[in-house]
Amino acid sequence: MALEKVSSILKMADEANTSAIAFNCNDYTMAYSVAAVAEELNKPVIIMLYPADSFQKNCCNISGFAATVRELADKVKVPIGLHLDHCSDFDYILNAIKCGFSSVMYDGSMLPVEENIRLTRRVVDAAHALGADVEAELGHVGFAAQSDQHNLDLYTRPEVAAKFCEETKVDSVAVAIGSAHGVYLETPKLDLERLDEINAATDTPLVLHGGSGIPNDQLEQAFRRGINKFNVGTEYFQLYLDSIREFCSQNPDKGSVLDLPMFVQEKLKAYLRVKMQLSRL
Ligand SMILES: [Zn+2]
Repeated sequence: MALEKVSSILKMADEANTSAIAFNCNDYTMAYSVAAVAEELNKPVIIMLYPADSFQKNCCNISGFAATVRELADKVKVPIGLHLDHCSDFDYILNAIKCGFSSVMYDGSMLPVEENIRLTRRVVDAAHALGADVEAELGHVGFAAQSDQHNLDLYTRPEVAAKFCEETKVDSVAVAIGSAHGVYLETPKLDLERLDEINAATDTPLVLHGGSGIPNDQLEQAFRRGINKFNVGTEYFQLYLDSIREFCSQNPDKGSVLDLPMFVQEKLKAYLRVKMQLSRL
């Protein structure tokens, strides 16, 4: 089927009282594996691209990646969404939409709230005019390496959430409730009571970033208590690299680069089969 709007997938998740899962991908092998397992498990899924890494480091090009995911979506019977992850550049975001990204994240989370509202609204107005969805961030999901998940000053304030969603008209909002990007130095503990308060304050679907390494029991709770989109990046990237290392160690002398993608895809698919079961979609 054709690419599905991310807002439609999040609506399905909301109605099923669970979360859709969104995987950061860089190339065909990562995106193909996500689409193949979604089809196998008959689950909607979202494929994301993190522009700072993917384009600046020449992993792929923007219109090519969008076309790749569109073609993958066309070949399966489950809804596949395409989303541009963290970006703070208005022009870059508009270009991504024109290149085929039907959902984008504008990240103004480091700005004062009023400025975040103003600039998010600007992106929302432009994106909605082009038929694209917008995710914003309120509070700031920082980095696990800096233990930002413990910094309460960065957490989303429930009393601001309603105003933020109402004034920006965003389609979803990422919240800071005790998660962080990257590899956690110790097991994170989500502030689920805060999540309840944010969820009570707004009907806008909530997004959880920094998903790698959060224990499954906490994720299941978060999915039942308002999270409708769950982002996974670090552990999927790490597995990709580990799989390449394994391929090289198994084929020290005669491995062909042509045999690498399918070897890695099988490893990624095994992981995805387990991870995607967390969503009750
Ligand atoms: Zn993030």
